Amino acid sequence: MHVYSIPMRARFRGITQRTGLLLEGPAGWGEFCPFEEYDDDESMSWLACALEAAHDGWPAPVRSRIPVNCTVPVVSPEKAHEIVAKSGCSTAKVKVAESTSAADCARLEAVRDALGPQGFVRVDANMMWDVDTAVAAIKAMDKAAGGLQYVEQPCHTLEELADVRKRVNVPIAADESIRKADDPLKVAVSGAADIAVIKVAPLGGVRKALEVAEACGLPCVVSSALETSVGMAAGIALAAALPQLDYACGLATLQLLDGDVTSDSLTPVNGFLPVVGKAPVPDRIAEFESGDEAWVERYRRVEAKLRAWPCSDPARSPRG
Ligand SMILES: [Mg+2]
Repeated sequence: MHVYSIPMRARFRGITQRTGLLLEGPAGWGEFCPFEEYDDDESMSWLACALEAAHDGWPAPVRSRIPVNCTVPVVSPEKAHEIVAKSGCSTAKVKVAESTSAADCARLEAVRDALGPQGFVRVDANMMWDVDTAVAAIKAMDKAAGGLQYVEQPCHTLEELADVRKRVNVPIAADESIRKADDPLKVAVSGAADIAVIKVAPLGGVRKALEVAEACGLPCVVSSALETSVGMAAGIALAAALPQLDYACGLATLQLLDGDVTSDSLTPVNGFLPVVGKAPVPDRIAEFESGDEAWVERYRRVEAKLRAWPCSDPARSPRG
């Protein structure tokens, strides 16, 4: 086991340092990296995902490359333009709702300018709005962006998402509503959303996430949880195994980290990531090894919880 700590290039999701643990098993490497604030119950699915990679490997892919979006944090319009133009991606995901609505709209105009009329712009509000604020903001942003592909998680609850969905013409995507649900297999997202965002670690691995995708019955977008290339390979395996993939995935997030644990970094070329089959070997771990014992203790506690779960296959364990 190796504990890593990698600086973020810019503050993202409130963090400046990404930390986690890498482990090796008979099938290859896995990454256990629940965010610091997650408790042991919520971390169980993240460990199931890492153990699936290390011990079982992943289902066979049905495609050889994955279209990906670039990610635009809350930055100036000039910087947003630069990020999109440099990315080579034809889809951009723009973080909104953390700054003023006018600043969000200015950033969206710059993104559209960089993408051209054929590109796709999507926004993520991370549950920051109430229904009325969402409806007004989405209408303004749809105009500023010259058409939005979808808006991700504008509000907190499924009821609010359903209300917003009735009042705007922009499709709604559910993210937190799925991965933070007590049972992601039973979330009734249809009616509240048009698209499901699925993340392999919070859902307990590739196989479990495929079950969630099938159960929700919506087109899916696979997104990362700011993993290194080792954990990212699991997200790619999920996107590669989905029977249908209509949208670019949010798996081009390595650029948000200032370094990677492997020299086989999973960075996109011309808007696509190759399907790799198994996680790359972390041959550069020494550069980022922190030796933080707290992570090893966290791993041991969560592993004990997972073992105690009344189900023999950890990849199938429900979330805590
Ligand atoms: Mg999101």
